[in-house]
Amino acid sequence: MKHNISLEEAQDLLLEKTIRPGESHVPLIDALGRILSQDIVARENSPFFDRSPLDGYALLASDTGSATSAQPVRLRVLEEIPAGYVAVCQVTSGTAIKVMTGAPIPQGADVVVKYEEVEREGEIVTIFEPLKTRTNVVYSGEDVKKGEVVARQGILVTPALIGLLAGLGIGSVPVYQRIKVAILSTGDELIDLNESLRPGKIYDSNRHTLQARCLELGVEPVMLGNVADQQNQVADRIREGLKQADVVITTGGVSVGDYDVVQDAAKEAGAEIIFWKVDIKPGSPILAATKDQKLIVGLSGNPVAALITFDLLVIPFLKKMMGRRKYLYSKIQGTLLDGFGKSSEQRRFLRARFLMENGNTLVRLTGIQNNSALKSMMECNLFVDVPAGSGPLNPGDVVSAYIIGNIDNVDE
Ligand code: AMP
Ligand code: MG
Repeated sequence: MKHNISLEEAQDLLLEKTIRPGESHVPLIDALGRILSQDIVARENSPFFDRSPLDGYALLASDTGSATSAQPVRLRVLEEIPAGYVAVCQVTSGTAIKVMTGAPIPQGADVVVKYEEVEREGEIVTIFEPLKTRTNVVYSGEDVKKGEVVARQGILVTPALIGLLAGLGIGSVPVYQRIKVAILSTGDELIDLNESLRPGKIYDSNRHTLQARCLELGVEPVMLGNVADQQNQVADRIREGLKQADVVITTGGVSVGDYDVVQDAAKEAGAEIIFWKVDIKPGSPILAATKDQKLIVGLSGNPVAALITFDLLVIPFLKKMMGRRKYLYSKIQGTLLDGFGKSSEQRRFLRARFLMENGNTLVRLTGIQNNSALKSMMECNLFVDVPAGSGPLNPGDVVSAYIIGNIDNVDE
């Protein structure tokens, strides 16, 4: 077992252990928020055919070479094509076909002139200036070419991708199966939301926070409830979690106190400890263990620490397990707007959000930074990474930070 390791080493040890989930085909809309398990190849061009992007007249550019407002060119309009129909006639020299937005370009035509730029009288349309060939024509395959990989395996299916696939006539999509994450809260003090508050007891919030994070991430939470600080009871629940899920996440009971039983409980459940304690603040007492290729991660019970360490350490390996291409956080640099009075002996993460002003990235701390201030997580979209050995931070200092949440939720 490793002890008191860096965040990166802990990260690597967990990433190493991830295994690929199975695959299934699902109807297009059910793929939203899931991860593609195969590349998707276009079976058609998009657009399928050359079409007009506006209401106008399709004609031959060569007919308009001499057109001026003094000596305009007059063409005979052969027919009118709404979107969804195909021209019967061909455009030949001296003729034009009226086309609506989305209508196929009639054969022979190589340019479309806008309604607003011509005059129409009876069957004659008058053009006042020369037109360049290919103007106002959307060519077949301009967006997607037949045979092209439009979406790569490992990317998150977004509404835009659903639209793109629908546009290509793809109604069923290969995705990875959802991974299951069991969530267990430990602590004698915890009560459920439907119980009334009694002296010394607190509501179990971690269970709900982590359940919500899992749902947001697209993994299936398996709720194991809460359990007292009793080794054998915790061990039983961990066994249950291993049976039902791919990963077990516990909170509470991983520190050095007399009632911190999770480590021994994990061993009792047959797991091998990978590491204990990661050299970061908050949330340093983190336990990782493995059994039968499944992972157990024990986080501190402190609600802020639990959420920060879940985000920093657990989400990347869950993303990798989900099959996602991008599972590590992006880092940005920004200028701090507030000061932070404490020195940081240990590497520390501060809750913050970024603002853009005149092209500069500014970093604002989201309220008090102590461990029980869960409110400060609400507006948080950054974790400022303060290196070990730093002194107090001042407004104007340049800091680096991980981008948390959905802003960076795009697989490249
Ligand atoms: P522990 O990690 O067990 O030492 O707990 C650290 C702090 O977090 C204590 O004040 C606990 O009461 C609190 N805590 C533990 N589990 C939870 C939970 N599920 N929800 C809210 N607070 C918790
Ligand atoms: Mg406890």
